[in-house]
This record gives sequence, structure tokens and C-alpha cells, in this order.
Amino acid sequence: MRFRALGSTGVSVSVIGFGASPLGDVFHQTDPEEGKRAVSLAIQQGINLFDVSPYYGKTLAEERLGIALQGRRDKVFLATKCGRYDADFFDFSAARIEKSIEESLRRLRTDHLDLLQAHDVEFGDLRQIVEVAIPTLQKLKQSGKVRFVGITGYSLGMLRKIAEQANIDTILSYCRYNPLITDLDVLLTPSARELKIGLINASPLHMGVLTERGAPPWHPAPLAVKEAGSRVVQLCKQQGLDPSIVALRFCLDHPYTASTLVGMSSTKHVMDNLRALDTAIDPALLAQMRQIVEPVKDTLWPSGRLENADTAVATTL
Ligand code: NAD
Repeated sequence: MRFRALGSTGVSVSVIGFGASPLGDVFHQTDPEEGKRAVSLAIQQGINLFDVSPYYGKTLAEERLGIALQGRRDKVFLATKCGRYDADFFDFSAARIEKSIEESLRRLRTDHLDLLQAHDVEFGDLRQIVEVAIPTLQKLKQSGKVRFVGITGYSLGMLRKIAEQANIDTILSYCRYNPLITDLDVLLTPSARELKIGLINASPLHMGVLTERGAPPWHPAPLAVKEAGSRVVQLCKQQGLDPSIVALRFCLDHPYTASTLVGMSSTKHVMDNLRALDTAIDPALLAQMRQIVEPVKDTLWPSGRLENADTAVATTL
């Protein structure tokens, strides 16, 4: 495994991180015993960053991850979230965050978190996030229940604004840097770098689009993006390559993101994804992929409050 500094936290995280949302059956039904084996194998193979949320499977992912981490808690950098509890239920108030961490600690069977993140901030009010949610997270940091605080979301402009106005250690962005989209580097990476904030890139497979199984039914991307994704998958397969490994490798080549979080719930996917560490992408394949993706490159979907959306979304609505 390779490790990179997580911003200025002083912590090194594995370049491949374990995204635990699939443990909550978010993508499809999974076998809890196999999920436990996947967690154990990932730790054995050097993966130390684990990311989850109370929202994933309505607490199921946290519950299962907590069970899987029993006896191994000290081997991982454990990140969870607060503020999002359902598809359309958000609460970034101080009281809810203080209650949320106690619930997460119980489910995760631990007495502290390495990282607590305000989840999907574009669904909240900018002022409330900056003036209430982050200061509450900072208070938890001072109390020792949390080592670091962060924010997560889809809207890069919103993430950037918060980073400029509040004191945070990390930012997690998803579906904004992978073979289908790279606008992370235009809208967020330069500020994160300048502010020395740890940047975590999630969803290298565009939440399932760049897999043989394809996108789950709830996937918000426009059809044209999903179709381009399946053409990329077919192209890789024709060349005898695993499309998910190619997509993950593309993300691992990013020069600044500390870790790429890929969703896993099986030992097979853990082993497959580790192969990305030793796989180089042929520039000719990359050029062919670019050609397929070009017409839909950097396509966004609406997420959160309109006033928090990135301009490209706001103008296409
Ligand atoms: P992803 O792009 O990692 O895709 C996950 C899907 O791909 C799952 O169905 C998984 O089973 C499958 N998969 C994984 N490895 C595979 C392989 N080698 N071959 C074939 N299929 C494979 O999307 P994701 O899970 O949404 O993102 C990763 C993690 O990032 C999440 O689990 C979560 O922890 C985090 N995340 C956070 C936010 C947020 O905070 N707002 C949003 C998205 C993701």
C-alpha cells in the first residue's frame, strides 16, 4: 500500500480508502459476513482510511462496520458524518450533531472518531454550516471525541466557500474526479492545496457507472453519461482490462488528493482494487476513453439547494 499526507493533519492515509456505503446495501443487497471479511482483508492489505455515514442504509453501514472493526479499531483512521440522515432529511444544528456523534460512536463501537464530517453540505444553509455546524465539530475536537473535522458534498463551489470561511481539516468530494469528470481540479483542488486542507476523492467508479454491473437504479446522472460510461466499460473489456481498475488507477494518478474512496463490500473487490496500485494506463487507451467521454465530459446533476449549486448546474436547470 502507498500512503499520502492528509493535508496538514500530520496523518498519512492509504491512497485507496474503503468506502463503506455498500455495507449498508446502498447499491444492492450484500452479505454481512462477506462484508466483514472484506473489511478484515482491506486492513490486512494496508488500507487504513474507512469512510461511512449514519445515512448509508439508514445506519446499517455504520452498524456493520462497527461489528467488522471490533478488535481492529486501532488499525484504522475512522471517518463518519453527521447532518444527513435520509434522502431528504438534513439537520446541521448543534443539538443534532451532538446527539449524532453519540449515536455513531455507539454503532461504531468506539470512544472516538478520527474524522467527523458535515455530510452533503449543499443541502444546508451556508451560514448555518459556517457559524453553527463547524464550530460544533470544533468543540467536539477540543473535547477529544473527534481528532479532525471535515465537510463532504457534491457542490464544489459550496465546499470551497466553507473552506475559505471556516476552520476545517478535510474536504471529501464525490463524482467530480474520475474518467467521466475532472472539474475538481478547476473548482476546488487549487484552494484546497493553498489552504493545506486534506482532499479526499470519492466515487472513482462514478457510483457504479464505471463497473460491469452498471449504475444502480437511483443513480442521478443523465442517461447520456451512463451510456458513455458503459461504452468505456466495453472498451476496457475489449482490451482485456477490468474497467473499474482502470478508473480507479486514473484517480490514483491525481497529484494532490490524499486518498480515493472506493465503495467495497466483498473480498473480490478489495483484491481487484488493490491491483490498481500496480496497473499503469496505456496512453492510447486513455485517448480512446477521452474520445468516448468528450460529448458528456463534466456533466453535472442538480444536488442540494439551488443557491448552493455550481454555476453550470444552476444555468442548465
Ligand atoms: P464508487 O464509485 O466507489 O462505486 C461503488 C460501486 O462499485 C459499488 O456497487 C461497488 O460494489 C462497486 N465496485 C467497487 N469496486 C469494484 C470493482 N473492482 N469491480 C466492480 N465493481 C466494483 O461509489 P461510492 O461507493 O458511492 O463511493 C465510494 C465511497 O465514497 C462511499 O462508499 C462513501 O464512503 C464515500 N462517498 C461519500 C459521499 C458523501 O460524503 N457525500 C458521496 C459519495 C461517496
